[in-house]
Amino acid sequence: MPEIPCSKCRRPAIIFQRYSGLHLCRSHFVADFESKAKRAIRQHRWITPGDRIGVAMSGGKDSSALLHFLVKLLGKRHDISLVAFTIDEGIQGYRDCMVARRIAEGLGVEHIPASFEDYFGITVDQIVGKKGDRLSCSYCGVLRRQLLNRVAKQHGITRLALGFNLDDEAQSVLMNVLRGDADRLLRPSGAAEGLVPRIKPFMYIPEREVALYALLHIEGFEIGRCPYSHNALRADVRNLLNDYAWRHPATRYSLVNLGERLSGIGGDVPAAAICESCGEPFIGECRTCRMLSEVLDDLC
Ligand SMILES: [Zn+2]
Ligand SMILES: [Zn+2]
Repeated sequence: MPEIPCSKCRRPAIIFQRYSGLHLCRSHFVADFESKAKRAIRQHRWITPGDRIGVAMSGGKDSSALLHFLVKLLGKRHDISLVAFTIDEGIQGYRDCMVARRIAEGLGVEHIPASFEDYFGITVDQIVGKKGDRLSCSYCGVLRRQLLNRVAKQHGITRLALGFNLDDEAQSVLMNVLRGDADRLLRPSGAAEGLVPRIKPFMYIPEREVALYALLHIEGFEIGRCPYSHNALRADVRNLLNDYAWRHPATRYSLVNLGERLSGIGGDVPAAAICESCGEPFIGECRTCRMLSEVLDDLC
């Protein structure tokens, strides 16, 4: 096959961006990628002097790429610090904190592990053993969210950096639309009191570009999928969107924009209450404690 030249410098291209019409070589791809992530950070004022940023690191391509990018961006700054942490949900044969640790330490970043077992006294494998795997993603998601927040606060983290990419974000918006979940679409994006603010530097970058950036820079990231991740709606939405966006390449950006516009008209962040039993903030009810009481009751 003849080599296609980069649209900017005529060196061999490694990727074609359908939405921009550009073929890019390695160095122009990396420059384009990093400038998009930096622009997202600037636009949202996501990082300010004095911040201690915690990267939630699964060891997969997105979070490993994010840590690499943040080290490159902030590694020389003395007024901003970085740590990585990994939540071990207790899924045998899937989560291996050593993968994330090796990558973090290879980048010179302190790595902090935390497990469902230590904090909640139960693993996802045990939850699935009791409840089946139909709702495992919702249990796991709620518990992981709280544990990330607890660990972040314990380690003085001021921003929680998540590796979500454009595909993830667009899927989430479309899922809320398809479920008719107006509350979630209109929910303000700011963090409630007691919740460490979250930042998503890759939210405007397509998944395949995050994967390529990871392949170019990181060795040995985790490629497995969670054995319980057959969240049917998300898989359907992913397929639908991939198919549609192939013909209409701007679709994912439109959806993410829509999500941001809607959350912007949702008003102020509602005041959170503090849960009496776990001490964490919640709005409505503490889903963590409700779920734990459902699964812990007859475990003993
Ligand atoms: Zn080039
Ligand atoms: Zn609680």
